[in-house]
Amino acid sequence: MMIVSACLAGVRCRYNGQAYPVPKVVELVESGQALPLCPEVLGGLPTPRACAEMLHGKVVTQDGTDVTSFYLAGAQTALEIATLVACKKAILKARSPSCGCDKIYDGSFAGRLVEGDGIFAARLKAQGIAVCTEEELV
Ligand code: SF4
Repeated sequence: MMIVSACLAGVRCRYNGQAYPVPKVVELVESGQALPLCPEVLGGLPTPRACAEMLHGKVVTQDGTDVTSFYLAGAQTALEIATLVACKKAILKARSPSCGCDKIYDGSFAGRLVEGDGIFAARLKAQGIAVCTEEELV
């Protein structure tokens, strides 16, 4: 079983209340090969919610509010679900502070990127689960 970011499967769970559906991901879920999860919603955050980025190991909103605890809680719950379904691979939304893989926004809210993983992506990688983004799908 694969885990996919729920927003890529068409769930309107993004910070702005929108989805980001990718046909290949939707197909994987509809055929029962992938389970959609949103770690931020699992962490207790509302939708819509304030846009947040990682900065110095924390997750903060543009007004400086530290929301790290929600992101950690959601990543932990999502990881427990991934473990339950024996997940071996995940397809996650690029650049998100939870789901981003290899590159994330730098905390300036200016669209700049730095090397790094979102909190959920990092947890999956630490468990040996292969992670890629929707941008790497062929
Ligand atoms: Fe999508 Fe992940 Fe953000 Fe949820 S946390 S909206 S699944 S990118």
